[in-house]
Amino acid sequence: MEKIKFIVVHCSDTSPAMNVTTNDLRQWHVVERGWNDIGYHWFIKRDGTVYDCRPESVTGAHCPVINDCSIGICLEGGQFGSNDYTDVQLAGLSGLVYELKGRYNNAAVTGHNHFTSSKTCPNFNVVDWWEKVLTDNGGVM
Ligand SMILES: [Zn+2]
Repeated sequence: MEKIKFIVVHCSDTSPAMNVTTNDLRQWHVVERGWNDIGYHWFIKRDGTVYDCRPESVTGAHCPVINDCSIGICLEGGQFGSNDYTDVQLAGLSGLVYELKGRYNNAAVTGHNHFTSSKTCPNFNVVDWWEKVLTDNGGVM
């Protein structure tokens, strides 16, 4: 999977009060939009649970310019541009990104907002966040 150049973080753009499941994502993406599967490869709940949505070997549908060379991760939450993720959720994200970097070590860790000026998703600077994770863990991997 040397073609994977980016690990892209997204949000579900939903209220913190809403309990979003992979069934909801499937409803929105497969039933309502007619896609072949959930657009993201991974989904992380506010409780930190990480769900496998679509095989990494299958091109995602989450960031049009780079779908064919990226892995998409969706964080539950982020409605109205808010950065409302839980600590345990971000810990789940860093654990998943470490795992992905183990498979795609040349991939850059970024957010959807790096690729489009029309979206703020996931409402924080993912590049800075990942640098801080690495620093807090004692250096570069
Ligand atoms: Zn997004």
